[in-house]
Amino acid sequence: MLETTSMMKSNLIAAAEIDRLDTWAKYSAPMCGSCMSSCCTLPVEVKIKDLIRIGVVDEFERGEPAKNIAKRLQKEGIVERYNQKSEIFTLQRMSNNDCLYLDRKSRLCTIYDKRPDTCRNHPKVGPRPGYCAYKPKPLERPTNTSSRTLERF
Ligand code: SF4
Repeated sequence: MLETTSMMKSNLIAAAEIDRLDTWAKYSAPMCGSCMSSCCTLPVEVKIKDLIRIGVVDEFERGEPAKNIAKRLQKEGIVERYNQKSEIFTLQRMSNNDCLYLDRKSRLCTIYDKRPDTCRNHPKVGPRPGYCAYKPKPLERPTNTSSRTLERF
């Protein structure tokens, strides 16, 4: 019974789906090293101060209407949405939902030191606090040396 439960649990975690909070795993820091960075495929909401820290908005632009800044950033492919009421911008994602700042190969953030507060606070704050959509990186296949050896003879 115990074995079945733990097997079910590991299947559940491996199949974590971003949109199904019931598949999310309890977060612990060492998990990040083996994860596909699935948190970086969630929509990231940012404020003007985050955009200034990233370096895509100048400090002196603060006085400008935020919707004009949003228009420019949308044109430049940095922001996908802007909510005028809350003054919150949503960072652009790629066709596979990756954040525009996520390196496709290494799955690491390319602006880590300047990353928005939303990313700094994940998963303490977020859709399911304390949990994340852990999705393990695919295992690298070992080279099949035995078949190579056979081919040589
Ligand atoms: S800014 Fe960096 S940490 Fe935040 S979602 Fe994008 S890649 Fe991930």
